[in-house]
This record gives sequence, structure tokens and C-alpha cells, in this order.
Amino acid sequence: MKNPGFNFKNTYTSLPEIFFKEIRPCVVKKPEIILLNEDLAKEMEINFSLIKSDERAMLLSGNKTLPSMKTFAQAYSGHQFGYFTNLGDGRALMLGEHLTKSGLRLDIQFKGSGKTPFSRHGDGKAVLGPMLREYVVSEAMNALNIPTTRSLSVVKTSEVVFRESPQAGAVLTRVASSHIRVGTFQFAAASREKMFLKALLNYTVNRHYPELNTSNNKALEFLKNVMNNQINLITNWMRVGFVHGVMNTDNMTISGETIDYGPCAFVDNYHPKTVYSSVDHDGRYAFENQPIIAQWNLARFAETLLSLIDENPNKALKQAEEIIKLFPALYKESWLKMMKCKLGLFNENFNDEKLILELLDWMTSASADYTNTFKDIESENFENEIYKNLKFKNWHKKLKERKNLNKRSTSESLKIMKENNPYVIPRNHNLEFALKEADQGNYSHLKKLISVIKKPYKIDKVSKKYTLPPLNSEKILQTFCGT
Ligand code: AMP
Ligand code: MG
Repeated sequence: MKNPGFNFKNTYTSLPEIFFKEIRPCVVKKPEIILLNEDLAKEMEINFSLIKSDERAMLLSGNKTLPSMKTFAQAYSGHQFGYFTNLGDGRALMLGEHLTKSGLRLDIQFKGSGKTPFSRHGDGKAVLGPMLREYVVSEAMNALNIPTTRSLSVVKTSEVVFRESPQAGAVLTRVASSHIRVGTFQFAAASREKMFLKALLNYTVNRHYPELNTSNNKALEFLKNVMNNQINLITNWMRVGFVHGVMNTDNMTISGETIDYGPCAFVDNYHPKTVYSSVDHDGRYAFENQPIIAQWNLARFAETLLSLIDENPNKALKQAEEIIKLFPALYKESWLKMMKCKLGLFNENFNDEKLILELLDWMTSASADYTNTFKDIESENFENEIYKNLKFKNWHKKLKERKNLNKRSTSESLKIMKENNPYVIPRNHNLEFALKEADQGNYSHLKKLISVIKKPYKIDKVSKKYTLPPLNSEKILQTFCGT
């Protein structure tokens, strides 16, 4: 088969062998391409029109591989809902690292391509609905300017995969700056071989933080950098009302990209304790808990690096703790900055945090739509009944007074608001409806939704339909991971 432009140059397999297991993808029946991300393919310098459509389906399902693909599954561990487990790619398979002419190195990975040595009791398969969901939400996140893995394609197979009910099988092709996770470091640390940990640190620093190679304490600086990237990521999630749903340490990347779109969803009626995932019974991963969980995960990450931070365990622990303790203040600074952008505020004022918290309090009591409230404040459109409320009116008066201290033009204020407040997010009810239709073989709603979420900060006639919050009868209260 002709190569449409994949340029595989693998480096991960130069790591010690415990980090991966070579394995080929399973052959699937009748692969059919449902979604192909032409925009992403172009960014990756891949031209699928160079191969015939049935060959595309064969390639993106794993039925045919290119000679340059040396496929393997990655080993990792992780804390799942607080408990440590050995995991690994149980239903994912690395095809290799694709190198673009501009020097980008991208992991290309199948999700749902069959059993691997890490599958445990799972079937190694994925089903169509959740893979389409990952495609839509990850592409929405990218368009919202939030670091994320991307989705190149979803292929449907004619295999029947058993979940709560028999469902159509699917293979998603995921693209990431790497799939190295906090859990990968936990796996290396659990091996108790410092050599393995050191190899992983050197590899990861070279790949993601090469500027740290000359630092006096590489492991410590690495920890700081990963923490900063995670703070940036979580701040962005909070900006758009995103609830990841499964912030286990194996689902936290070292690059700072969002990964593993399972039962994730966007908040519509605001409540800080919002949880969608059907398996998150105690609300561990609720909207407002995401920063504290990120800090908890980073503490687990720091533990893996101790032996590389200092030979003396007490000294190592002290230095790592000092960094992790900085998280709350750094996160708060980042969050405050972001929320001020959402409200169009410049400069510092000691009352800013209070002003923001008052708004969130009112939004909670009014069950205000998270996305639309900020858009309404931005455009000063207070037609909605919920704004005819004394508490809100008083708050808005305070906002106006605060804006007088901006010392910047109204248009500058409007600009930062527009850049930070999306019109369109993949609303749960729109997404569920599109997925239900797709399950019946009608992909038109799904494709329309994708075209709309690709321009979240622009509004036109088509996208306006997607800005409406759900009716009571349309509300989605629970999401499922579908693994
Ligand atoms: P996730 O909840 O998707 O982050 O997955 C957690 C772990 O379960 C990972 O090690 C996955 O590879 C594994 N896993 C999820 N679904 C399956 C499946 N269908 N077959 C085998 N392993 C799976
Ligand atoms: Mg995972």
C-alpha cells in the first residue's frame, strides 16, 4: 500500500524493554471510516487522498500496517480513584512517532484495536459511541485552545462488542505529543530499579522539556515544569466548565495535554459540585475538585522522582514538598487571572476574588448556564428572567464600578472576554442526540456538531442553535465511560 505521508521515527522503543510490549493490531471485519479529520491530517502533512478509500479504512483500522510501523503497547501504572494498580495499554496500541517536516513529533495510537499483554480481563475493544464522543470532545478542546490529544479518525467495524448491550466495534486513531503519563513514572518507580526511572526521566526531558537538560537538579525542575503545565491545563478546564470525570494518575499526561475522554462533560447549569460520571459515586472528580485532585496527582508524581532529586531521602522529600506546597497559590493566581479575563478585568484589585466568588455563588443559586452567563455579561444582554434579580443586579453594579478601574479601553476589555468566553461548547444534550442518531447510522447531526464546535468563539445562524441550554427534558445528568 502507498504511504499517505506517515513518517515514523520511533524513539520510545529505545527505552528499557519493561516500558513496552511489541504487539500487532487485531484484524477487524469490514472497517468503515465514519470520521476522518482532514484538518488534522493536513497539519500532520498526511494526504489521505493518495490512497483509495478502502485502503484508508484498512490502514486506520489496523488491518494493514505500513512496513515502518513497529507497533507496541505501553506499560504504566496509576492511582484509580485513589488506589494504586498496574495498568498499561489494555485497548490501545502505538503505531509510532510521526515526525513532521516542521519538527513536530506526534504519537499515533489506536484505541480499540484488540487485546494486548496489558488487557487483564478486558477485550481490548472499543465501541462506536464512546469513540465518536472522544473525537468530538477532543476536537472541541483543541478549538477552545486547550492542550489536548487529538482525533484523526474513527473507524466502525462490523464486530459486535459486548457492553451493557451488544454494540458496534470501533477504532479511534489518537494523536498526542506523547502518551507519557504520571502513571508511566509510577510504573518506573514501582520497578525499584533506579536505572529505569533515570532512563524515563532523561527520555521525557529530552522529548518535552529539553531546556532542562542543563539544570542543576533536572528531576526537581522537571517536577516544577509539569506542575506549571498542569496548572495551565486545569485553569483552562475551569474556564470552559469542563469536567474530565476520571482524573486518575494514569490519565494525567506529562506534556500537559488533556487525555482520555471517557465520561467527561461540560457544565451547563452551574454548580461547583457537578459530577456526570456514573462511576464517580463520591464526587471525587467533581468540577470544583479538579485543582485539588491535580495537586494530589502531582504529589504522587513527585514521590516517583524522589530518588532522582537527592540521594538523601529526607532532603529529597523536603525539596519535593516545597514545590507541591506551591500548587494552591500558583493555581489561585492562574485561576484569578483567567476569571478576570472572562469578566474583562485588567489590573489588580484586592476585591477581585470576592467579586468573582459572588458571581459564582449567584450562578449556583440561580442554576445559571455556565457558558451563556459569561456571554451575556460580555454582551450586556440581560433579557433572560434570571437576571431580573436583585442579587445579580447588585453584583453587576459592582462589576461596572470595578471596570472603571481598568484604565484600558472598553474594546480591549471586550477583546479578552471574547477570547476567553466561548459561544459553543459540545453541550451534553446536543452530543448525546448526535450520538444516538449515529448509532442508527445517521451521521449528519454528528458532522454538523463537529463543524460548529471547531469555531467555538464565532457565532452564526447555524451555531446559534447549539448555544441553547438543554430543556429540562433534554438534560443529561449522567455519562458513562463505555470501556
Ligand atoms: P481508562 O478508564 O480508559 O483510563 O482505562 C483504564 C485502564 O483500563 C487502562 O489500562 C486501559 O487500557 C484499560 N481498559 C479500558 N478498557 C479496556 C478494554 N476494553 N479492554 C482492555 N483494557 C481496557
Ligand atoms: Mg486511561
